[in-house]
Amino acid sequence: MSKDIVQDGDPVLRETAKEVPADLFNTPKLTKMLEEMKESLDTAKHGVALAAPQIAIPYRIFIVRYDRMVPESKEELEPEVGIFINPEIVKTSRKQATIPEGCLSVDGIYGNTQRFERATVKAQDAEGNWFTRGGGGILAQAYQHEIDHLNGVLFIDHAENLEKHES
Ligand code: ZN
Repeated sequence: MSKDIVQDGDPVLRETAKEVPADLFNTPKLTKMLEEMKESLDTAKHGVALAAPQIAIPYRIFIVRYDRMVPESKEELEPEVGIFINPEIVKTSRKQATIPEGCLSVDGIYGNTQRFERATVKAQDAEGNWFTRGGGGILAQAYQHEIDHLNGVLFIDHAENLEKHES
């Protein structure tokens, strides 16, 4: 079941999310949370990533939709979901870029943020296995934006030139 995406002002977005403990892996509870995240992001047509607190799940989990990060694609691609549990940025590029940003939890507001151009994340998959994955561009931006969510930070806290767009 997809859940409503929590909006700015809800305290859950300002909490520090909890580590997913070892005994939660490979349980129906974790599977259900991941399914709810996938379905909620699937419903949010403009979303490329979602952090668990955005649907009121207080754990350190985010997911990305790689298929929605392909800018030149005109046709619908098959959903390709990446799961990151207990994620941590282990490496970044030295360079930062100013890039436009928005958030499913801050509906209709856009602004410019400073983000590292590349970032590498270490995280656990749904089975609890650790992996590292690097990314540039929109993927690096998503890593930074989503891990901010897990620490109670929203992009509007540090973005410049915030503007309201009708969506
Ligand atoms: Zn967000």
